Amino acid sequence: MAEAQTVAFHTLGCKLNYSETSSISRLLENEGFQKKDFDDQADVYVINTCSVTENADKECRQLVRRIQRKAPESVIVITGCYAQLKPAEIAGIPGVDLVLGAGEKFNIAHHLKQFVKGDSAKICSCDIEDVIEFNPTFSVNDRTRAFLKVQDGCDYNCSFCTIPIARGKSRSDSIGNVVRNVKHLAAGGVKEIVLTGVNLGDFKNESENFFQLVQALDQLKEIPRYRISSIEPNLLTNEIIELVANSDVFMPHFHIPLQSGSNRILGLMRRRYKRELYADRIKLIKTLMPHCAIGADVIVGFPGETDEDFKETFDFLHALDISYLHVFTYSERDHTKALEIKPMVPVHVRHERNKALRNLSFMKMQYFTQLHAGQLRKVLFEGHARNNMMEGYTDNYIRITTPFKQDLVNEIIDWKI
Ligand code: SF4
Repeated sequence: MAEAQTVAFHTLGCKLNYSETSSISRLLENEGFQKKDFDDQADVYVINTCSVTENADKECRQLVRRIQRKAPESVIVITGCYAQLKPAEIAGIPGVDLVLGAGEKFNIAHHLKQFVKGDSAKICSCDIEDVIEFNPTFSVNDRTRAFLKVQDGCDYNCSFCTIPIARGKSRSDSIGNVVRNVKHLAAGGVKEIVLTGVNLGDFKNESENFFQLVQALDQLKEIPRYRISSIEPNLLTNEIIELVANSDVFMPHFHIPLQSGSNRILGLMRRRYKRELYADRIKLIKTLMPHCAIGADVIVGFPGETDEDFKETFDFLHALDISYLHVFTYSERDHTKALEIKPMVPVHVRHERNKALRNLSFMKMQYFTQLHAGQLRKVLFEGHARNNMMEGYTDNYIRITTPFKQDLVNEIIDWKI
């Protein structure tokens, strides 16, 4: 592999995957590789896959075909959740050279050095139980916003989810190391850090927990803005909410997965809370921070979800003082307990429910934005321009679009909405 000089990446899935791709890229650049765009010719292509993405298999195959058409001599590496879950299936895709499981993705340089292109794909993977190491990663958007991974894996066993078997047990960085990474990002000009993890609220290390992490970062003056990416309602404690409410640097914005507004379905999903706890969290947040943005994840069409269950979810969300929804249509995943739950919801009903909740989300987002019209809020503008326009977010996550002006880039500006 000595002649392999250029590498291109494609990422599927969540912010965590983007942050990992970014770190893998820096790792290879430090080893002498030159980074290319995915559409360019490269010697090595890395696809970082996701197990949650519907049709991960199809998407992967399409990408591999695309690469083969433009660069038939290149080395194609597949890593990420899907590579951990179905290595043999991926290795069977014509054109794939190397499959790296969860424990091997950060050893990519070593594997590439040893690799000799042959007829069949090489699988480098281990049992997910053996993946216990934590690799801190981050990605930076336009030198403005960074997604910093502080936790990985999950010890929960939600019945629809493959993440615990794709990413392994819950493990976290140390607060000291997170602080070092934050200072490094701040020195590079980053103004906002989004703390990310698979089950972020489960951040823990011997005597350290998530609240202590948030407390430590709240003291750091180098970064003007932090966001907590997504946190399970049962792990979002009163003390975290109160700290954010009194903080100058933690933004008034939470993303709290709900998944269903029916306690019966929450039970089948093996979630660790009931809807009453969720409603209490929202009530406290809104009492302390009436301007706070709150997003929720919801799954529609989970097995056994009747019209009444869905109506309960819809009505619950309708009445809840939240700002937007991320709606997911349930789809069957191998190795999950949900496969045993009957009856299945017909696919067209799943799509109807998805549409109903997406409409509700649109209305909630509009209402939330209108509520703040005319207010002065702080906006951090990002660097890239599309059609001569630029974007930024208020502290409470309202997206602002304005004609591009270089002197606004990476600045926090008081902006009338
Ligand atoms: S909390 Fe549940 S849904 Fe989230 S990663 Fe863990 S098992 Fe999956």
